[in-house]
Amino acid sequence: MRPTPLTGPAGPGEGATLAEHHRMFVDGEWIEAADGGAFAVSDPATGEVIAEVADGGPSETVRAVEAAHRAFPGWAAMTARERAPILHRIQSLMEAHREDLARLVTRENGKPLEEARREISFALGYFGWFAEEARRAYGDLVPSPAREKRLWVLRQPLGVVAAITPWNFPATMVTRKIAPALAAGCTVVLKPASATPLTALLLARLATSAGLPKGVFNVVTGARSAPIGNALVEHPLVAKLAFTGSTDVGKALTAAAARTLKRVSLELGGNAPFVVFDDADLDAAVEGAVAMKFLRVGGQSCICANRIFVQASIAAAFVPRFIDAVRALGVGPGTQPGVVVGPLINDGSRRKVDELVRDAVAAGARVAVGGHALGDGPLARGHFYAPTVLLDARDDMRVCQEEIFGPVAPVLTFQTEAELVERANATPFGLAAYVYTRDLGRATRVAEALEYGLVGLNDAAGYTHEVPFGGFKESGLGREGGREGLDEYFETKSVVVGLPPAR
Ligand code: NAP
Repeated sequence: MRPTPLTGPAGPGEGATLAEHHRMFVDGEWIEAADGGAFAVSDPATGEVIAEVADGGPSETVRAVEAAHRAFPGWAAMTARERAPILHRIQSLMEAHREDLARLVTRENGKPLEEARREISFALGYFGWFAEEARRAYGDLVPSPAREKRLWVLRQPLGVVAAITPWNFPATMVTRKIAPALAAGCTVVLKPASATPLTALLLARLATSAGLPKGVFNVVTGARSAPIGNALVEHPLVAKLAFTGSTDVGKALTAAAARTLKRVSLELGGNAPFVVFDDADLDAAVEGAVAMKFLRVGGQSCICANRIFVQASIAAAFVPRFIDAVRALGVGPGTQPGVVVGPLINDGSRRKVDELVRDAVAAGARVAVGGHALGDGPLARGHFYAPTVLLDARDDMRVCQEEIFGPVAPVLTFQTEAELVERANATPFGLAAYVYTRDLGRATRVAEALEYGLVGLNDAAGYTHEVPFGGFKESGLGREGGREGLDEYFETKSVVVGLPPAR
């Protein structure tokens, strides 16, 4: 098939319909893969192929790294105040094209349209936050131990950043990396997930329209992630890898990046406990548990509740209400009104979720609702799974030990605060935890004792731009968002100034 270029007077961000073929964006140009190859992107709700995208590999990756390296001195030399208007314009363009972006997210990722709209509103906020924060990226003037010396500490942009992102938040995972990198003065080569490259390509178009100079932001698309990832982490001109994805891939890339001692920040998998104490506001706890288990990409988020811990004395009150709320969730294609849970990203994910449910049932768990794939009628071609509640779950079941990444809620009971803390922490992961209680002392003690980078106290909204986000233990390294999210893109330099004697 002869490729139809995405570039031209109007792309999807400017009101045109989606072209069939998309090129990648390198050095300010929309390019094909050197070998002309392309891979398919499909809608997880229907299985329909919605686009084909240039299938890059190491040669396109190296070309992008070299372009980002050439663009670096000019971009880094601009002041934060000069870079800020460009970042604010990207934010405004994302706002103006919120509906295009949201529809694209729903098409390639499957999440309900209203949820996709919320994602875009959140994703674009990183540009404003970091544009402002970069203007406050102070250095230090350190008191000198010697009269004839002065000590300056400077914060300087690292250089070329390689960003690798997952499919579950096709916009937010990208902006949470590129906004701080660009604000700090770094240039970027992004490899988006092969399941969801279209949103990233539209972001590149909007960034270019906003006035981002050529080569500052490059998007390499490809279905062969390992060769692209290796080309990025092995390239001597790449200063840093910013990765979001699974813990196994994060570890492998970190090992490879060690050969050239690159900076690495990692946002990896989770196994979040959602804790309901006996004095909790039960309405809020049920609403929070449903939101954090089922309403974030249908459970496919790293901060989704993975284990629901309910204090035994209120299990009889909490569980039936939770089950009723789960039974009422609308499942289907994300564009349909009333749908709040979309499909899983692919059939492999659905099979894994089902396997975890089967394993739990074989080990003694009871299915209270759901517990099976949904493959009939209009859902037949998509990767749907029924929202599921498992009762009588135990800590040693795979469903409680592994990241489920699907709409399945194992419910466990506990007796005491001390027991809860020990069981909640008994995992190699440490990304997010949620605690519902009205007792301030207990809330404080438990929040301090949990080994997690994010603790929601009577709150299941996740995080905001203003706070650092990241994991303890095997959930990651470094932080994104907040003040700390900018630090990840700076090198620290101490300048020791010797003053000549007074004449
Ligand atoms: P993944 O398989 O690790 O993929 C993430 C990214 O890495 C994708 O772009 C993928 O490309 C690429 N990749 C995969 N194998 C690679 C390799 N060998 N070398 C270089 N790149 C490689 O994870 P996923 O399934 O997309 O995402 C789900 C995981 O991400 C979950 O564990 C979730 O918890 C985690 N996550 C964490 C956060 C956080 O903030 N902590 C946020 C979102 C997701 P392809 O898509 O082309 O394979």
